[in-house]
Amino acid sequence: MTQTKPLSSLADAEDYDPHSMPVGRAREHIRAFLTPVRATERLPLRSALGRVLGEDILSGLDVPAADNSAMDGYALRHQDLAADEPTQLPVVGSSFAGHPYLPPLAPGEAVRIMTGGVLPAGADVVVMQERTERTGSLVRVPPGQRLGQNVRRRGDDIAAGAQVFARGRLLRPAELGMLASLGIGELTVYRRLRVAFFSTGDELVSLGSVPGPGQLFDSNRYTLHALLTRLGADLRDLGVIPDDPQAIEAAFRQAAEDSDVIITSGGVSVGEADFVRPMLERLGEVLFWKIAMKPGRPLAFGRLGDAHFFGLPGNPVSAMVTFYQFVREALLVLMGVPEPQPIPRLRLLCTSPIKKALGRTEFQRGVLSEDASGRWSVRSTGDQGSGILSSMAGANCFIVLPDAQGDLPANSEVEVQVLEGFL
Ligand code: AMP
Ligand code: MG
Repeated sequence: MTQTKPLSSLADAEDYDPHSMPVGRAREHIRAFLTPVRATERLPLRSALGRVLGEDILSGLDVPAADNSAMDGYALRHQDLAADEPTQLPVVGSSFAGHPYLPPLAPGEAVRIMTGGVLPAGADVVVMQERTERTGSLVRVPPGQRLGQNVRRRGDDIAAGAQVFARGRLLRPAELGMLASLGIGELTVYRRLRVAFFSTGDELVSLGSVPGPGQLFDSNRYTLHALLTRLGADLRDLGVIPDDPQAIEAAFRQAAEDSDVIITSGGVSVGEADFVRPMLERLGEVLFWKIAMKPGRPLAFGRLGDAHFFGLPGNPVSAMVTFYQFVREALLVLMGVPEPQPIPRLRLLCTSPIKKALGRTEFQRGVLSEDASGRWSVRSTGDQGSGILSSMAGANCFIVLPDAQGDLPANSEVEVQVLEGFL
């Protein structure tokens, strides 16, 4: 990977203030320093869910492959119909899905046709069954049928040679279905993003160990593991690293060996045991920001060798919020998606009152729900302390309160970011 400009060039900008970095600005800065994965691999279609297309896809086929019927009814020649009285025609055969009527339709003939059935050669209109009257082998068709009605034309959906998807497309179930419909069973995708991650803190123990006095279970590494798994990353879990410069240096070197991204949690504040930032300064390049947001104020972003580095705050809720607001989008860009879809934002009424300080963006945890009349609203999960993981587990959205917003009474309109389905 090559980097276009040094991170330090950022600090030359006039309005660059690392001590109070607005959320949107931090996001833009991060975007400017990302080098997406370029290497690709070929994969069978079924293995490509969640991966990113590394090639443009052109259709080799017309879809639909032949003119066909949009209705159950009768296929016939429009010119055989009388203009102002019913016409009676012999039904000479049928065209059912998978069983076309092969001979060309002769003048004066009709063919029974089902939705999706191939239109016989010569037919140019389908008359809905409900409009007709069938007697034995004859069908009676009223006047007033329009040429071409109820016919889906060959190539209407996709013409052969047309571009179906561009490189950089994230492959969801609908994309895979569409590719299958074109007969494409193998794809070029970008290789998976290699992400190394670890937690820092003398107080942390991994699952399977027993916490000693003053110790607690590491949760961030498990949250991160889950978030990164949903993004389809190739993971390197380096465990818990103690607050010790040598151990952190060793972990950094190991993480940088073969990764596109390194994510750490904890140790990015300015306390005595916060070694992440100075170590990154020594071994790589780092930008450190106090983001004007809550939760999740400190964030380190930088480079270590070829790897992009995200140093998340240690507080479990802060780590998650920071991941959603900055890391998710950055990882999608690194995976090869040039313009990732933002997490959707909606405006709705918040049924609980909100306490909010001016001058920072808050991401309070909320619960979206539907009332008896089918209206959706949001309420706060309650206590918004940044260490309270249960507030995150109980939430399905963030209530996003912009910098200039203060306290709000109950039933005010707020903006929410829906989390379900977006990691
Ligand atoms: P730090 O950012 O390292 O100062 O950590 C802030 C707070 O988050 C402290 O109370 C830590 O104990 C807690 N914390 C840090 N890392 C983790 C983690 N991986 N899992 C759970 N809590 C953590
Ligand atoms: Mg710590």
